[in-house]
Amino acid sequence: MLPAEVIERKRDGRDLSAGELAAFLEGFLSGSVADYQIAAFLMAVYYQGLSPEELEAFTRTIIESGACLDFRDGGPPAVDKHSTGGVGDKVSLILAPLLAEYGLRVPMMSGRGLGHTGGTLDKLESIPGFRTDLSLEEFKAVLGDVGCAMIGQTPEIAPLDGLLYSLRDVTATVPAMPLIAASIVSKKVAEGISALVLDVKFGRGAFLTDRYEAVRLAEIMVALSEHFGLPATALLTAMDEPLGSAVGNSLEVAEAISCLRGEGPVDLREVTIALSAEAVVGAGAAPASEAASRLADLLDSGAALDRFRLLTERQGGDPAVVDDPALLPRAPFISEFPAAGSGFVSRIDAREVGFAAVELGAGRRRAGDAVDPAVGFEVLVRVGERVSERQSLVRIHARSEEAAGRALDRLESAVALSDSPPAPTGPLVWKRVAGR
Ligand code: URA
Repeated sequence: MLPAEVIERKRDGRDLSAGELAAFLEGFLSGSVADYQIAAFLMAVYYQGLSPEELEAFTRTIIESGACLDFRDGGPPAVDKHSTGGVGDKVSLILAPLLAEYGLRVPMMSGRGLGHTGGTLDKLESIPGFRTDLSLEEFKAVLGDVGCAMIGQTPEIAPLDGLLYSLRDVTATVPAMPLIAASIVSKKVAEGISALVLDVKFGRGAFLTDRYEAVRLAEIMVALSEHFGLPATALLTAMDEPLGSAVGNSLEVAEAISCLRGEGPVDLREVTIALSAEAVVGAGAAPASEAASRLADLLDSGAALDRFRLLTERQGGDPAVVDDPALLPRAPFISEFPAAGSGFVSRIDAREVGFAAVELGAGRRRAGDAVDPAVGFEVLVRVGERVSERQSLVRIHARSEEAAGRALDRLESAVALSDSPPAPTGPLVWKRVAGR
């Protein structure tokens, strides 16, 4: 079938066979299908979805586009977690060294910023020298020495996801359930781990804003993962306002370091411990309550921070950053967003904050753009908090006064105040979806 016929078939809501889908995607890898044809196809999938058989074939083609690792080798259980994408979500930076300190192995393959959400790789690369492009041999060596290693989609593992991901990022085709499911599950299956934890976000700043759609996505991903032999569970976590205070790459690294020191925002700590405990349970290493209290101890004692310092050093980063986050890249222009009046914070729209960060340069406008590690926001208040007139709501870290002014315009519509306290928000960790 010609590439245009494949696109047409999907555009018109008709199913493709596994062979047709695989041939089309493989054509992208070999150069016979152009990236604009893939972009059109992704948009067709956005509107028409994929049948369960198509989703299975799509995921399998991504897995088979590279090598598959296998850590079911009698060593400590290898586990990983992956988020569907949020704003201020720096959990992976804390969870990987924390679980390594617990005695598990975490061969983590992460992504870059996607749409209005940040990406673990962009955050890590704000640490001077930190390499996320390790070869497979280097990746395995770091994992062996540190207990965790953090890389991106490599030319060796799930390379097709890397290509699709960068096209989706800039063509408004991220928030499609089958595309998210295939992207995440393919990478995790190729990692060769024995348990997976999914952090499925819902709310204003998530790709799926509706919580029941997010449950559906969680169910699809857990089932898909288990179809490929990888046991998985998912936690549904709220993403209406940014997680923690920092949004932007080096600001988020600094906040992750503070959490690894036993400090930092309580919401970030809560989500990190819940997901980490879920991974410990998935690995069969301990029941949830026991896992949670030991994980908290490993944060409070600084043991997980030591592990992060070692990881940073072994991946080429400057370990001094871990003890002095002021060494991270810093933006030259810092300004404040003051409250126009007094009242209660009724909304901090994570999606708007995320796009404002992209506009500052913390994310990409076009595939392949460089990100600015230094820029972003410190959100200084939480929803429900009482604020007084002129109190600073957000600190803006920008390249220039002009860029900060543009960010301020967006923030003004992202943050709302009300005269009375807003209705209480639901729990941060709302629901658990388990497999068979
Ligand atoms: N994370 C991924 O790896 N892929 C997605 O599509 C969304 C979040």
